[in-house]
Amino acid sequence: MDFNLSSMGSSPKAPAEPVHVKVLILGSGPAGLSAALYAARADLNPVVLAGMDLGGQVALTYTVENYPGFPEGVSGPDLVNLFQKQAERFGAKVEFDTATEVDLSQRPFRVKTYNGEYLAETLIISTGATPTRLGVPGENKLTGRGVSFCATCDGWFFKGKNVIVVGGGDSAIEESLFLTRYADSVTVVHRRDELRAGAILQKRAFAEPKIKFIWNSVVTDIHGESKVESVTLKNVITQDTTEMPVDGVFIFIGHTPNTQLFTGQLEMDDQNYLVSDKRMRTNVEGVFACGESADPVFRQVITSAGMGAAAAIQANHFLDAQEMDAETATAIS
Ligand code: NAP
Repeated sequence: MDFNLSSMGSSPKAPAEPVHVKVLILGSGPAGLSAALYAARADLNPVVLAGMDLGGQVALTYTVENYPGFPEGVSGPDLVNLFQKQAERFGAKVEFDTATEVDLSQRPFRVKTYNGEYLAETLIISTGATPTRLGVPGENKLTGRGVSFCATCDGWFFKGKNVIVVGGGDSAIEESLFLTRYADSVTVVHRRDELRAGAILQKRAFAEPKIKFIWNSVVTDIHGESKVESVTLKNVITQDTTEMPVDGVFIFIGHTPNTQLFTGQLEMDDQNYLVSDKRMRTNVEGVFACGESADPVFRQVITSAGMGAAAAIQANHFLDAQEMDAETATAIS
């Protein structure tokens, strides 16, 4: 199976007039594409704004082993490709475009994009989350020059090299295991003395001879001019610092929801995740939130896909109710 961007059905031309749609879906990860499938099957002709990265984080995942229906696992890009094909089969349109401004003060909601403008009767937000940065000196300057947030994308460049992985969650351990294909050594630097990652991943990592651990430690500085040369590590118990020569720094310390666009318009929690109820409804009627932009807890492909399906079902109910209200109003007048 190919992960083929040219098959996305995107239009290169900017729409001259605002395009009026029943369902506009922002984001093309498992939540957005599952919402698209359900909205398309409800005959709502949804449009998905895929952003720059079709598929979101899962498209960067080498193998997904916990999505049901794939007993041998499936590559992230292949899974995204299948999601997209299935949604398009029922009439969903996937546009390679990004929302830049939203006005949720009245319906239809106005959404400006790089290529034009949409008027949406309902909006499904599935904008996902992006990897959190350490915020230490050298991180920004050396990103793409040894600092990476994606082992699947960049692992190959570290053949025969020594890398560190920062973090102790599922992502850090899964990506560490992946990096052992290329790197000579992978040192996990974790701020505590036990991992947060699940038991199976922990077991695999402890059994892997290329993976070493530095406990109770954080990276305070990343050094190098044109590429990463070393890091400063601080032991959080003794406060001792040491400099460690490394070729690469892979950072997996959690995610930040992509919700800046909705600041001041949609309710968010203290970490800026969108607040939605059990029916994916936000505080604005007709706006639904699903996937990692609204889920600080589960953040799995399957939970995001489920939330996306639920959001589309709710959007359909909402549109039905609006139509019935309009018919009743017409009958009374
Ligand atoms: P996570 O579970 O939030 O783990 C983040 C890790 O980074 C934690 O170990 C945390 O340390 C550490 N950390 C946070 N801030 C830090 C900082 N400033 N400096 C140093 N370390 C820091 O994030 P994740 O691993 O990306 O996983 C996110 C979600 O996706 C989870 O629900 C996970 O189960 C899921 N996921 C699942 C799979 C899978 O099932 N195969 C794969 C990937 C992700 P503490 O432990 O001390 O808090």
